[in-house]
Amino acid sequence: MKSRKILIAGNWKMNKTTAEGVELVKEIAAEVGKQSEVEVLVCPPAVALDGGGKALEGTSIKLGAQNMHPKPSGAFTGEISAEMIRHHFATYVILGHSERRTYFFETDAFINEKVLAALKSLLRPILCIGETLEERDADKTLDVIRTQLEGGLAGVSADDMTSVVIAYEPVWAIGTGRNATPEQAQEVHAFIRKWLTDKFGEAVAQKVRILYGGSMKPVNAADLLAQEDIDGGLIGGASLEARSFVEIINAAKAAS
Ligand code: PEP
Repeated sequence: MKSRKILIAGNWKMNKTTAEGVELVKEIAAEVGKQSEVEVLVCPPAVALDGGGKALEGTSIKLGAQNMHPKPSGAFTGEISAEMIRHHFATYVILGHSERRTYFFETDAFINEKVLAALKSLLRPILCIGETLEERDADKTLDVIRTQLEGGLAGVSADDMTSVVIAYEPVWAIGTGRNATPEQAQEVHAFIRKWLTDKFGEAVAQKVRILYGGSMKPVNAADLLAQEDIDGGLIGGASLEARSFVEIINAAKAAS
């Protein structure tokens, strides 16, 4: 029995037109749109937030964005703000995904600005952190995690921290088909929980959900979710098809 409600979040990345996205959320909602044992979240591309959000009306499934700019408005071509996301009744935003760190050179300091801006706008950030294979092989995993936590969460109050979700996503496991073993993931999740305890106190740390992300699929979800400090999943590839996403949600229900 989990003390924290499991969160299963789908990160669609740059996939699905609005029409395809609406179709997908309808399929997911038909199967798990009424249950409340597991919190379910879909994060479509920004242009599909409107259509996706409307298709989710009347269901228990929540809507999130994949990124945002820290400034409320202005000359930032191609970017979207927290307020624009909120306008579509989205409640979460993924921040600091490794693809944004790698391809768009996002730093911990910039990600931290976004975390603070999201909280100010009452959006719940899902802060992604994780080591590369080189860093793991060099035994630097926990140092990298500590640095990303310290940088990404600078200035966050204990009160606000309970609205933040952390996603541990080893970079070498994302989209590779090679997931971390449940033991490897649990070791890092326990480290994150301990870091949160030292920084924000036991009560806050016990409330924060720490998701695992990196090739989570129906076949490995149950074992990962059985770990004490794994409170859900951030799912890429397997969230693009209703069947596999729903199977992961069903595994989460069984683990709840
Ligand atoms: C992700 O991009 O957050 C992710 C975990 O992707 P995948 O499930 O495809 O590894």
